[in-house]
Amino acid sequence: MFRRLLCTFNTLSSHTATPTPLLRIIDANPVRCSLVTSTRLRCKASEEGEVQEERDPTKDRSRVIPVETSMKYIKSEAYHTTYGSDPVWKIYRRNFKGAFPPRKTRKTCIRAKMIATGNPCPICRDEYLVLDYRNVDLLKQFISEHNGAILSYSMTNICQRRHKELQVAVLKARDYGLLTYDVPFREYEYSEYYTPSKNDNKLTT
Ligand SMILES: [Zn+2]
Repeated sequence: MFRRLLCTFNTLSSHTATPTPLLRIIDANPVRCSLVTSTRLRCKASEEGEVQEERDPTKDRSRVIPVETSMKYIKSEAYHTTYGSDPVWKIYRRNFKGAFPPRKTRKTCIRAKMIATGNPCPICRDEYLVLDYRNVDLLKQFISEHNGAILSYSMTNICQRRHKELQVAVLKARDYGLLTYDVPFREYEYSEYYTPSKNDNKLTT
């Protein structure tokens, strides 16, 4: 997809393994140095292992995307080719064993700043979707058009961590006046609170 082009790849510059002078130690004391050598080899092997475990840029979530970028992304052509006019959770399907899905969605999709699952939730899978109170276009996709309530995670299928973030962002947006919401209209019977004055009786008669 086009948005993949926006990704920048993190280069691992810190994993430059320095060669250890093993041969020199072996010549000095073979019995003692065999232990040292095995330890050093193990250390070196672990360093090489770290180098092999390069972070997959498609699963890396260590980069912090600013909200402004996310707001631009939602209005961009790349977003519309990916999602169209549907909400971001519309085309997502959960994977679950058996006939019925678990009551709750998973706790989180991202562990140690990496996507830790094969089917991350609609928010976690797209790093440019940032849940923030300023990102109103995204928040509106998770609000019911009928009653203005936040849609359940059983419908949107977002993970519990993102759902919590969503709730906080929506409440904050309402506080800042970025999201409008309806309050129930209440009809008061004012005679229960105020005694009718003499002037009112004169006006009515
Ligand atoms: Zn998630």
